[in-house]
Amino acid sequence: MILPSFKYHQPTTLNEAFAVAKTCNGDFDFIAGGTDVLPNYKNRLNNRSHVISLSAIKELFELGDSKIGAMVTLVQLEKNEWLLQNHPAIAQAAHLIATPPLRESATVGGNILLDTRCWFFNQSHLWRESKGFCLKADGNDCLVVPQKDICYATYSGDLAPVFMVLGASFHLAGPAGRREVAAADFFRHDGITRYVKQPEEILTHISLPENAGELRASYRKLRLRDSMDYPVMGAAVALRLNGKIVDELRIAITGIDTTPFLYDDITKGVSGRELNSALTAQIANDVMEAVKPYRNVHFTPQYRKAMVGVYLKRLLQELSGD
Ligand SMILES: Cc1cc2nc3c(=O)[nH]c(=O)nc-3n(C[C@H](O)[C@H](O)[C@H](O)COP(=O)(O)OP(=O)(O)OC[C@H]3O[C@@H](n4cnc5c(N)ncnc54)[C@H](O)[C@@H]3O)c2cc1C
Repeated sequence: MILPSFKYHQPTTLNEAFAVAKTCNGDFDFIAGGTDVLPNYKNRLNNRSHVISLSAIKELFELGDSKIGAMVTLVQLEKNEWLLQNHPAIAQAAHLIATPPLRESATVGGNILLDTRCWFFNQSHLWRESKGFCLKADGNDCLVVPQKDICYATYSGDLAPVFMVLGASFHLAGPAGRREVAAADFFRHDGITRYVKQPEEILTHISLPENAGELRASYRKLRLRDSMDYPVMGAAVALRLNGKIVDELRIAITGIDTTPFLYDDITKGVSGRELNSALTAQIANDVMEAVKPYRNVHFTPQYRKAMVGVYLKRLLQELSGD
């Protein structure tokens, strides 16, 4: 677990960061808290020769007015008064990530852009060499679903599903300018490509729509241990009721596939219906039927699939006060 050598850069503005990145010819990683990048480097997983720190770029640290800077730490998310009052589900999900010391360094941007995880990837070089390298690092074939086209490593971030159900947007800046991408459209079904962000683009902040505060939202995660563990299934639900009638319902699941996934095709159909126990069971069951977990993280796919139904039922009951 010795860190390999690399050249460390610490630009103070976005433009400086893009200029440094240009000189690295693609052989670089941005680094925020480093709690994902550095353990991967220690395992010799896709190391780069240059690491560009975002820690001195002031505009990435803003928090408030429906805006969360990418460099805001998870501890700040957990404790921020505005979030606790207006979007408690974000603080709740942040509180469930890793451990208190890790949350001091870990950032919201790094959490959204977390690398995908897999039994065949998150291992030492020696382990991977003896087993045979995989498509995501040093090899030619995916060892989960043997083929050469896409990687089936699992997306294991806790915050993205919450941002998805709240209708958040991710803001990117790059040498060609700035753009905004809805959280729901950000991820790509490939454990290597992962998202629409280009390598030279920096996530600057996350914004929340004005009406997000009207939604009741919550997040629950399944994990092996009750601390220091990634979700092997995490469910986020946002709900707006008019009496007992569903005005708006959004559900996103993480930790089961290469991306977090929003189930709008299922939940749109329930607007205008009474949220009783039969409908709760039907929604939980429909999403459970739709998920397809792979056998590459803790717990069997069958168990994780079953828990999607159980957790969603509990979340819907919690949010509807049933
Ligand atoms: C023991 C342990 C347990 C963990 N448990 C959990 C868990 O339960 N849930 C969970 O979600 N995560 C978990 N993590 C993963 C990690 O700690 C968090 O996801 C953390 O939020 C990552 O943030 P970071 O700032 O450290 O990211 P970094 O490691 O700095 O970066 C992660 C990735 O994002 C990119 N990046 C970061 N910020 C930007 C930006 N602004 N623009 C462009 N690219 C950027 C980096 O290049 C890198 O690819 C765990 C990690 C460890 C070591």
